Amino acid sequence: MKNLLTVDVEDWYHICDIEHILPRSAWGQCESRILFNLEKILTLFGRFKVKATFFVLGYVAERNPEAVEMIHSEGHEIASHGYGHLQVYKQTKDEFLKDLLRSKSLIESMTGEKVIGYRAPQWSICKGKRDSYWALDLLVRSGFLYDSSIAPLRFIGIPKAPNTPYTVSTSHGEIREFPPLVMPSLLGNLPAGGGWGLRIFSYRSIRRRIEELNRQGDPALLFLHPSDFDAHRPKIRLPRIKRFVCYGKIKTTEERITRLLNDFEFTTVREVLIG
Ligand SMILES: [Zn+2]
Repeated sequence: MKNLLTVDVEDWYHICDIEHILPRSAWGQCESRILFNLEKILTLFGRFKVKATFFVLGYVAERNPEAVEMIHSEGHEIASHGYGHLQVYKQTKDEFLKDLLRSKSLIESMTGEKVIGYRAPQWSICKGKRDSYWALDLLVRSGFLYDSSIAPLRFIGIPKAPNTPYTVSTSHGEIREFPPLVMPSLLGNLPAGGGWGLRIFSYRSIRRRIEELNRQGDPALLFLHPSDFDAHRPKIRLPRIKRFVCYGKIKTTEERITRLLNDFEFTTVREVLIG
């Protein structure tokens, strides 16, 4: 059973909802650490001869075209993380489409290959108060075959969404949705395939959860960020909860991922979708 290995290619300062601490206009002055951290990830994946899907942020592709070249030359899949890293529910349909197509055509012009997958910043395709479910229809219309933007989580995402891959019908056709690995609990689903969940849960419980999914024929999806591999990145003065989400036990990620790569098989979303 092959599981899914994914990386959001963004820099250490691409954190949602911190415009009041670090405005977008200051991004240009921030030290870029993307190539340094990406190198570590690519070396690790190379050691295990594993291919992954990299959701590249258009802003990064433009500022650091070498990042796209490095990923592409190693034979990994390149998908889109949008351009400007703003949650989908904070954009109008027109703004979303513009951001989406800007990143898609930028990446395609660099690799010469069609981009077929998308992941929104902070799992921001939602329903209800933050409705942005309409984005799936725009993704189909723009030629995307799959999406990985809906987290079955309580505070961000759609709490009751399926936690294994599924198909969504839109008015322009179907799209396949790939949710992140979550850990069911009395408090609802908690993230486990990346971020703080991957760092906090015991390795045994994460491994057991993946084995459980694999036994029922479903892949587990892991999601990483280059800054997860960078204990020395510049720290932003974040509110307490966000500080923990971004920086807590950061050194654990690399150790956990290495063990998972040892214990399970992984591949790209494209391979699982179309072979
Ligand atoms: Zn992101």
